[in-house]
Amino acid sequence: MGEKMLGMPVAKALDEKTIKIVEKCKNKGITPTLAIIRVGERKDDLAYEKSAIKRCEKVGIKVINIILANDCTQEELLSKIKKAGDDENIHGILLMRPLPKHLNEYEACEAVPAAKDVDGITKGSMAAVYSAKNLSQIENGFAPCTARSVLEILHYYNVNLEGKKVIIVGRSLVIGKPVSMLLLGENATTVICHSYTKDLVNEVQSGDIVVVAIGKAEFMGKEAFMNNAVVVDVGINYSDEKQKLVGDVRTDEVIDKVSKITPVPNGVGSVTTSVLAYHTALAADK
Ligand code: NAP
Repeated sequence: MGEKMLGMPVAKALDEKTIKIVEKCKNKGITPTLAIIRVGERKDDLAYEKSAIKRCEKVGIKVINIILANDCTQEELLSKIKKAGDDENIHGILLMRPLPKHLNEYEACEAVPAAKDVDGITKGSMAAVYSAKNLSQIENGFAPCTARSVLEILHYYNVNLEGKKVIIVGRSLVIGKPVSMLLLGENATTVICHSYTKDLVNEVQSGDIVVVAIGKAEFMGKEAFMNNAVVVDVGINYSDEKQKLVGDVRTDEVIDKVSKITPVPNGVGSVTTSVLAYHTALAADK
């Protein structure tokens, strides 16, 4: 039976590293601070905000909540982002997305200074991830928290990446693309698949390690993975049939075939706010 790579111990280990950086900053008179900018009251945003606040409190990071009405103007939003960007007491900025349709999300993201972009949403952060040799050498920007969570999990569970073939299913800017860059930095050989990939099962079967980030409930089963593959299931989907959250992979079906797999829930999703806090502490330390 494959090992379940739970997110909680990974988060705990990362929090311990964050606490040390926070203490170091506080000894220098700096309180690492994260500004969370939210437009409106979307349920998903509120849930993520709540868990981000809880995590930050746990590691000693101060959170400033900046809340705008759902019908705010682009100018109002940009002015809040700019103010947080200019405030030297704010070290990290998390802009909750997606923004309401009437707002220009691209312009809002670009208003965040890359050095405070702790969730890797700006072109500056993307360039930093793309040009760094590996994770530890990313400068003036950060990887998206979910993408980095995948790496943190693989490291924590001692998955050897060097020379391994990693198949990434999904090519979004928040997961697929940055994960592939981070894994390249670990000397893995990476292949990115997407909805136009021919014979997806055949591609995925060639992966020693498979990262699945599609967003389709229990899309992949036993047929897709090689024996003893390591699987990271990033998907978070609500199954109407099962009335609960499920991943992109049918975990129960594949657990006997793979060597390790992240469960959903309690897998990748449990690590993201720890990465967010870690990035904020690093930003403050700089
Ligand atoms: P997204 O932007 O919708 O991207 C989905 C990707 O999957 C696209 O590249 C798409 O290909 C590909 N895809 C869709 N159907 C496919 C198929 N049948 N075969 C092969 N590829 C297919 O989604 P996302 O933002 O990356 O999120 C992916 C999943 O991760 C979602 O379930 C989301 O809820 C979850 N998520 C989890 C966390 C976490 O903390 N665990 C955080 C963020 C997101 P094309 O580009 O060709 O359309």
